[in-house]
Parts: sequence; structure tokens; C-alpha cells
Amino acid sequence: MSNTLNVAPALKNPGQLYPFSTEVFVEPTEVFGEAVCFAPARLEGTALGAGETVKLHGSLAAEAVRHCARCLCEVRVPIRVDVDETFAREADPDEPDRYPFEGSELDLTDCVHDNLVLELPIRVVCSEDCKGLCPVCGINRNLDSCTCLEGGVANPFSALKAMVENDEEV
Ligand SMILES: [Zn+2]
Ligand SMILES: [Zn+2]
Repeated sequence: MSNTLNVAPALKNPGQLYPFSTEVFVEPTEVFGEAVCFAPARLEGTALGAGETVKLHGSLAAEAVRHCARCLCEVRVPIRVDVDETFAREADPDEPDRYPFEGSELDLTDCVHDNLVLELPIRVVCSEDCKGLCPVCGINRNLDSCTCLEGGVANPFSALKAMVENDEEV
């Protein structure tokens, strides 16, 4: 599966907007110490050729598969982001944000990957009501119950751990 966009018409007719809509596959990537997978992204917008550059303007929609920070279950996070990027034939040290291209095709892989990663929330939870894992025995308290934390806190270590985890949730 290729992530390329043919921009031959935009290069041939500078100044004219060419609408496009394409699907882009993004490899799983490590973000915030977690492997994040992405459902195929859809990039829709217009391509504008200007000499040796092509500007893409549009919106990117995808879904990231993350894990709940409390109970570790899978959470699908929808992502929608406006994209405004320039591809250039020649690298320009003054314009480090540009993506390179050759011929008449843009490889959208890096551009889409970068835009998605920037939009990822640092932390996700499956639900605001998620009870998380028991800090003592580790069971998923959404699915099961245990008596570890009953009748106040059994030992100082679990109290400390519970405090730390509550802090993280703010
Ligand atoms: Zn959860
Ligand atoms: Zn427990």
C-alpha cells in the first residue's frame, strides 16, 4: 500500500487548487513510552503547486489505539486535525518544516505521522468513571472487586501508592 499523492496536475498548473482525498497508512509508533497503533487516516483537502513547492491544505482524520492510564484496557481515540504543509523539491535550511518530494508524487507518510503524533493526548482513560486496577492485588476494579482496600488502608505502602495514582489523575 503506498501513501503517495500524485500532484502532476498541480505542478503543471501553478496557482490552481486541486482537491484530493486519500487514505494513508501509519505504522505503529512509540509515543510517551507506549506503542500506539493507528487506523488508516484520511487526508482530504487541496494541493496547490507553486514552482518547486506544493502546499497541502486540508483535514486529517484518524483513530489512535491507546491504553487507559488507569485500567490499561484498549481505548480508541479519534483524531481530527487541520493540516497545512509544504512539500519542496529542494531542501531549504531556513524552512526545516517542509517535506521533501521528487518527481510528481508526494509521500504523505511522514507528514501524516507527524500531524497525528502532535495531536495525541498524553494520557487517556476509558471512562471518567474508570476505577482502575487495585494497587494491591492488580485486579481490574471495573470488572471485579476485591477487599484489599476495605476498612481503611491496610498498609502504608498501598496508601502511598494510592496517593500517587490519585495525583496522576488530576
Ligand atoms: Zn480504564
Ligand atoms: Zn485488590
